[in-house]
Amino acid sequence: MHELSIVQNVMQIVLENLKEKEYETILEINLKVGEFSGVVSEALQFSFEAIKEDTEFSACSLNIDIIPFLAECQECKKQYNIESEFFLICPSCKSQEYKILSGRELYVDSVEVD
Ligand SMILES: [Zn+2]
Repeated sequence: MHELSIVQNVMQIVLENLKEKEYETILEINLKVGEFSGVVSEALQFSFEAIKEDTEFSACSLNIDIIPFLAECQECKKQYNIESEFFLICPSCKSQEYKILSGRELYVDSVEVD
């Protein structure tokens, strides 16, 4: 399962970043996931819950913030939500010139410890 290896990566990144800090419990991981990153957030949650027991993350919850898949029209500068990457037409001027603004992200935004 793709999401399981992502969760393992996320845990590893968090631990590496916390190494220098003093903490007792890792409380929360805030993750940013793009709508078009190819990752299913429910599967991430499920994988996280399944493997967190008996680790430093047993008391930790995973918060997933979805970043919308947005494009900007290069003709009229309108920003619009992309529903399918294969059908990118500006809803305002029908131009097919676009720039992708967001939606492919996948990163740890912040971590709360106690
Ligand atoms: Zn436009």
